[in-house]
Amino acid sequence: MKKNMSIAIDGPAGAGKSTIAKLFAKEAGYIYVDTGAMYRAIALFVIRSEADYEDEEKVSEIIKDIEVTIDYKDGVQVVYLNGEDVNAFIRTPEVSRVTSKIATYTATREKLLSLQRNLSVEKKVIMDGRDIGTNVLPDAFLKIYLTASSDARAERRYKELIEKGEECSFDEIKKDIEERDRQDMNRTIAPLKQADDAILVDSSDMGIDEVVKTLMDIYNSKV
Ligand code: C5P
Repeated sequence: MKKNMSIAIDGPAGAGKSTIAKLFAKEAGYIYVDTGAMYRAIALFVIRSEADYEDEEKVSEIIKDIEVTIDYKDGVQVVYLNGEDVNAFIRTPEVSRVTSKIATYTATREKLLSLQRNLSVEKKVIMDGRDIGTNVLPDAFLKIYLTASSDARAERRYKELIEKGEECSFDEIKKDIEERDRQDMNRTIAPLKQADDAILVDSSDMGIDEVVKTLMDIYNSKV
């Protein structure tokens, strides 16, 4: 793969990758690519099909012919599942849980890999996910591993949901986050881990602006 200006941001669930990547993209003139949304679209398909999502063989079979694509509407990434805009349906706790499971399957990952790589050839992208620096864009110009303690991550999710008026339990959120981390870090194919050449940013005690500034400083020191 040719060397380009792509930026990879990986890290565990709820570390703030998408918030930070979106703000960075605006400031530095990048296109933000949310790869988790693509995995979520496949999970939605599996849920809707009512197949047993723990049955790898079955899931691999039914997702063979589906089409996941992305586009941008008013600067916001839209994910299409067989031509349908599914953005409104992919952020539920059920989809999150099923996504982490089906993301461990070879068929799921193979389906999305070339789509993700091609995007980075066509555009100057900042891509967030779990395996971007290690697997999708190994030649990325800048790799960031953004993390935070599970308490800090759960606290942010909890506040977000409370602000939206949703009822939720901090302990449940933390348990969900830790279970997804466990699944993402321990799978055989493309597990979540910091790439050797990635820069670690721990945002446990940092605000959003501080993290964006840290990233901007790292970026500016490289261009
Ligand atoms: O980033 P987000 O929370 O939307 O990702 C949902 C799930 O998709 C992750 O927990 C992970 O299991 C999977 N994923 C992945 N590889 C990526 C992006 C997401 O396995 N590059």
